[in-house]
Amino acid sequence: MRRKLAAGNWKMNGTSADLAQIETLARTHVGAISEILIAPPATLLHRASEITRTGPVTLGAQDCHASGSGAHTGDISAAMLLDAGASYVILGHSERRGDHAEQDSDVSAKASAALGAGLRVIICMGEALQEREAGNTLDIIASQLAGSVPDDVSGENLVIAYEPIWAIGTGKVPSLAQIGEVHDFLRARLEQRFGAQTARAVRLLYGGSVKAANAEQIFAIPNVDGALVGGASLTADDFTPIINALDAI
Ligand code: PEP
Repeated sequence: MRRKLAAGNWKMNGTSADLAQIETLARTHVGAISEILIAPPATLLHRASEITRTGPVTLGAQDCHASGSGAHTGDISAAMLLDAGASYVILGHSERRGDHAEQDSDVSAKASAALGAGLRVIICMGEALQEREAGNTLDIIASQLAGSVPDDVSGENLVIAYEPIWAIGTGKVPSLAQIGEVHDFLRARLEQRFGAQTARAVRLLYGGSVKAANAEQIFAIPNVDGALVGGASLTADDFTPIINALDAI
């Protein structure tokens, strides 16, 4: 059985004062059925890890460099993130692809580095609105899956987040049928490439304007194993009902 995952991506939000939100989540969700993950900015990872050491919350980073060390000013390696308390890293988020021109090959190289360092990876993919309207969604997903996911994954250390770009931070959400179609497609493609046993173990998250009001319906879709949540993960008050909805499935 795949353990459900409620993952919060804080993006470039959060200073020391916001560690209290993680503390509240850890206290509120003792004994949670689902795995709860917060990916704060890298500056907060170490302090957050002191809060989450024994509780139900695990930590992730939002990016890593593909090299283990070296002359890369401003970048952070996977080993450094692990050392700071992360056990996951989000890779290939559409904001990284857009703001930093990251290509599938970059995402794949970063994923290999992260896996080699002992992190689990959450690899993001999703279509732009024009691509959806042109009927190209599944082609885009197939090509991002082929290019961004390296060969050296296992079912346990790979999570895929389907995040339509047009749904991120916009309040727009695809229909339940559209989400289901992409998640079924992802599962089938994973099976073709990695075999049934691995494909069955990979968790598939939906991301894009998930909120308390729509979480229950989204989590009821087959092959949706949780969510990657941006805005609604920034406070414990907003994230808690989403976690509860996932626990109730
Ligand atoms: C995200 O950034 O991955 C995301 C899904 O954001 P939001 O939930 O705010 O749409």
